[in-house]
Amino acid sequence: MLIDAHAHITHIENGWLDRARASGVKHVILGGTHPEDWIQQIELKKKFGAALHLNFGLHPWWVEKLSDTEIDKALVQLQALLPVAEGLGEIGLDFFTDKRDSTQFPKQEAVFRSQIEIAKVTKKPMVLHVVRAHQKVTQILKESNLTLPFMIHRYSGNVTELKPYLELGAFISFNADFASVHGHEKSKKALRATPQDRLLFETDTGEPADVAPLYVKASELLGISSELLQEKVAENIRKIGYTLSS
Ligand SMILES: [Zn+2]
Repeated sequence: MLIDAHAHITHIENGWLDRARASGVKHVILGGTHPEDWIQQIELKKKFGAALHLNFGLHPWWVEKLSDTEIDKALVQLQALLPVAEGLGEIGLDFFTDKRDSTQFPKQEAVFRSQIEIAKVTKKPMVLHVVRAHQKVTQILKESNLTLPFMIHRYSGNVTELKPYLELGAFISFNADFASVHGHEKSKKALRATPQDRLLFETDTGEPADVAPLYVKASELLGISSELLQEKVAENIRKIGYTLSS
């Protein structure tokens, strides 16, 4: 059984699910970004059922875009809708200064902290989006005395930045970077340094079928069978708190 640990399905037609199933993908964990997206996830779930796992959260890019009033409203809506979702995310910090507005970083941090408090109250596992802010995020997580499971989706840090996450119990999700044609050495090293009982794989796209080759490449890299790797990842997904029907 293959699982895509992080995807964004934005279309209601059957094509993506047929392609995913044909390549062995049974479960897709969605990443949530903003209120309209949460509502759309609920609609998708009505259509696609057990294959989809909902996550609602205010993504740092949206935190940057929305006004303070809109954010307050969104956080109220988030708490109201969360019982329907299995997890809270994606939330976190994106400090990639080439693309993000650094004057918004304090706002990102404040909204991230607010959403961690919501996770604690609702006891939902968290999906974290972290770019160029690994030290800050691990510091915030330590300060919040978190006991909830969480995953770092599309892990982009190095081996040194990985250690504090692992000490905090994080599950680490890798996208196609480690398997790219030119080989992404940093990602490969991070993948090898992640214990197999913390490993996840994701597309971060609308094509969960594309996760299949990642299991093949990773099993070669780790020297274990693809079947065993699939079992380990499924077990990890269950440990985070997602219900897998089969
Ligand atoms: Zn995402």
